[in-house]
Order: sequence, then C-alpha cells, then structure tokens
Amino acid sequence: MKPQNMAAARPSGAGDRASDMVLIAAEPLRRMIADIFQAEGCSAAEAARVAKNLMSANLTGHDSHGVLRTPRYVRWLREGFLKADQAAEIVTDTGPFALLDGHHGFGQTVAPQSVELGMKKAAAAGVAIIAVRNSGHIGRVGDWAEMAAEAGFVSVHFVNVAGSQLVAPFGGVDRRLSTAPFAVGFPIEGGKPVILDFATSMVAEGKIMVAASGGKPLPPGVLIDHDGSLSSDPATLYGQGADANLRGPRAGTGAIRAMGEHKGSGLALVCELLAGALTNSGCCGPDNRPTANGMLSFYIDPRSLGLAETMTAEARHYLDWVKTSRPASPDGEVLLPGEPERRLKAKRLAEGIPLSEGAWNSICETARLAGIEPARYGL
Ligand code: NAD
Repeated sequence: MKPQNMAAARPSGAGDRASDMVLIAAEPLRRMIADIFQAEGCSAAEAARVAKNLMSANLTGHDSHGVLRTPRYVRWLREGFLKADQAAEIVTDTGPFALLDGHHGFGQTVAPQSVELGMKKAAAAGVAIIAVRNSGHIGRVGDWAEMAAEAGFVSVHFVNVAGSQLVAPFGGVDRRLSTAPFAVGFPIEGGKPVILDFATSMVAEGKIMVAASGGKPLPPGVLIDHDGSLSSDPATLYGQGADANLRGPRAGTGAIRAMGEHKGSGLALVCELLAGALTNSGCCGPDNRPTANGMLSFYIDPRSLGLAETMTAEARHYLDWVKTSRPASPDGEVLLPGEPERRLKAKRLAEGIPLSEGAWNSICETARLAGIEPARYGL
C-alpha cells in the first residue's frame, strides 16, 4: 500500500487530525524499520525485535512508543548511548531473584531476556523477582506483560527512566519524576489476558512528541509550566523550533503532570524507588546521565502453585460481571484493560498505521541517512 493522505481514508478510532496524516501499510513499514536498524549496526535478529516492538506499539494504538522513535533510537545508537547486540549480564542470581544489567543495550533485547529468566525461575519456584538496570528504552511495557501472560504467567512490572526527568510530582511545578510506567499481565486460560499498561504521567512523553510532530493534539492541562500555569502546548516540554523529536524534551521550561493527583504521583514515586533505587539503575535526576530504563518485575506461575484452575474460574466469573456494568453513555461500553489494544490491532493490520506527515518525513530521512530508500518497500 502506498502512503495515503488520511483525509480520504482515515481509520475511525485513530483520533488524529485527518488533514496532515498518512496511512502506512504495516508489513512493509516493519521491514523498512528492521532494515534501518540492521544498516545502523544491529544484528538481523535484534533489528527484527526492535521493529516488532515499535510496530506493536503502533498496532495497539500507542503511537507514542512506535516507529516515531526510530530517529531518536538511531541518534542514540550513533552517539553511543545505545549499544547494538548487547545481551544483559546476570549480576546476581540467588534462588527466585536475579539482577540483570543491560549495559545500555536495546531494551527490545534486554527486556525479553529478563522475561525469559523470570518465567524459568517462576516455573521452578512458583514465583520470581527480576530486577533490570541500565536497559535501553524497553518501549511498550505491555509487550513484556503479554509475553509472560501468553505463556501462562502473571506478571507485575514497575519501570522508571533514569536521566529522564519529565514529570512534576503532585503539588509541585519542577520535574522530579520520569513517566515511570506500570504494567500487569494476567493470563486467562483459553481466553484473552488482561493487560494493564500505562505511564504514571497524565500522558506518556511520546504522546507529546506525537502532538509536537503534528499528530493528535494534547488534552487540556496535561502540562504545567514553570510558573504553575497549565498548558497543552508541546513547546512547554520541547521548547520552540522545528523537529522536537530530535531536539528531545529537555529544552522546555515546563513539565508533564502526574496522573491521578496524589495517588498517581505516589505510584510514580514508588516506580522510581523500585525500578531505579532497588535495581541501582538510578532514579531520574538532574544529572546528565544517559537515558536508561530500570524495571522490577514479579512473576507468578499459578500452575506450579496449584492455583491455575480456581484462579481462572474466579477471574472469568468476575470479568464477565464487570462487563455487565451498564455503560455510562448510550454509545459507550465497559472495556477490560487490553481490550482497546486488541481491537485496534486488527484494524490497523488491515488498514495501515496512521502517522503524522512530520513523523513520517523524519523516519524517511533517517532511512535515507542509513542508505535505505522507502520506495524500495513501496512506501
Ligand atoms: P494509556 O493512557 O492509553 O492507558 C493504557 C491502558 O489503559 C491500557 O492498559 C489499556 O488497555 C487501558 N485502557 C485504555 N482505554 C480503556 C478503556 N476505555 N477501558 C478500560 N481500559 C482502557 O497509556 P499511556 O499512559 O499513554 O502509555 C502508553 C504506552 O507508553 C504504554 O505502553 C507504556 O508502557 C509506554 N511507556 C513506556 C515507557 C518506557 O520508558 N519504556 C515510559 C512511559 C510509557
């Protein structure tokens, strides 16, 4: 499929400004992104993992963590902040606990390695705790909760981002937190897992990047400026000027607000402590350290604990009952965490990925710098 102007073919549910959007076919886009990372020095296997994770974010509607990240990842790779084909090192391995150091390798390599280890340990002991430090950006955290859930494991993930102070704590104006995501995967035997996965900021940073490059505008008041005034202007975070994506979020004078008032701000703080301090990846802070994800994950194997049957029966019963809650609006529906993503994935696989022209141009420019011509993929 050739890129189309979305004014004529705009998928419902995308929520973006139709006029400056293009639709890009998923499979050729995935191949092109993989080829960019291979041309930039990643092995074919790693390049495929990175492309798959970025595409998964787009397919599930989290464009903030999708292919839009390609120019920034490539810049990090070229500047040496991110290292190609860096397997995580097991620093500590005691019974059900392990600490992995990602040594600033791609999160798309380090995170699945940590999930594999967590599942192996949980299968043996019933439970496992895996701490990860110094990982490159792990992208959509829900991918890793899904990976565990698809294999029958419950998992809980607390994540922070060292070197990425973006969020003001409840009651404050200055940046003191990262967007510190939290995710839970809960498998339902014979059914679809519950996947709860969100940033603890009112919006993920990438959603501001999407808005800055001409995509879906921000809801009012998700940002706070240095004087305490609320804002929805991406320049509050990125400063003024072209290509916020490459400039990064340090240039602005304001911050993103924490979600859920004092409760969300508290959850973000706990993510910093568990994923940043306990793992020794580092909490977010004013120093100029390289951006890295820390992650503390808990894995439970209901089968080896003899809980699988009762857990599944009760969870199915409960989730069915939740869905019977009368919708608050006539055309509304009660959805379970993970449902919106699954629905959108089927649609985007069929129709293509909506990208702002700004984001698409920036990806094409990155491709050409890597010696790759988008036309080769029919794009
Ligand atoms: P979001 O605000 O869209 O919330 C997503 C969650 O809410 C999902 O679990 C989804 O199923 C659920 N949900 C959405 N609509 C729903 C509805 N109507 N009913 C019931 N449940 C519903 O997500 P976000 O905060 O914008 O985060 C986007 C992505 O960014 C996530 O995948 C997150 O992991 C990722 N992220 C990653 C990093 C990192 O450093 N790697 C940092 C921040 C965010």
